Amino acid sequence: MSEEMECMCQQCGVSIYIPTDLISLEDPANTEVKMLSSLHVCEQCGGQLALVGKAGGEPYYRLE
Ligand SMILES: [Zn+2]
Repeated sequence: MSEEMECMCQQCGVSIYIPTDLISLEDPANTEVKMLSSLHVCEQCGGQLALVGKAGGEPYYRLE
């Protein structure tokens, strides 16, 4: 069972869960904003995704 990371669409704000081993960052040197490479895009709008944190962890924002 692989761990999942929570990613958020920068355009529509939807949360998507991606297994850790599938994640690749666009710019690993950027530790402030972890944008995902274009391998992963939003299923809803095709927007770019940003890494939020571990799935099930305590996010610093909350979607209702
Ligand atoms: Zn989106």
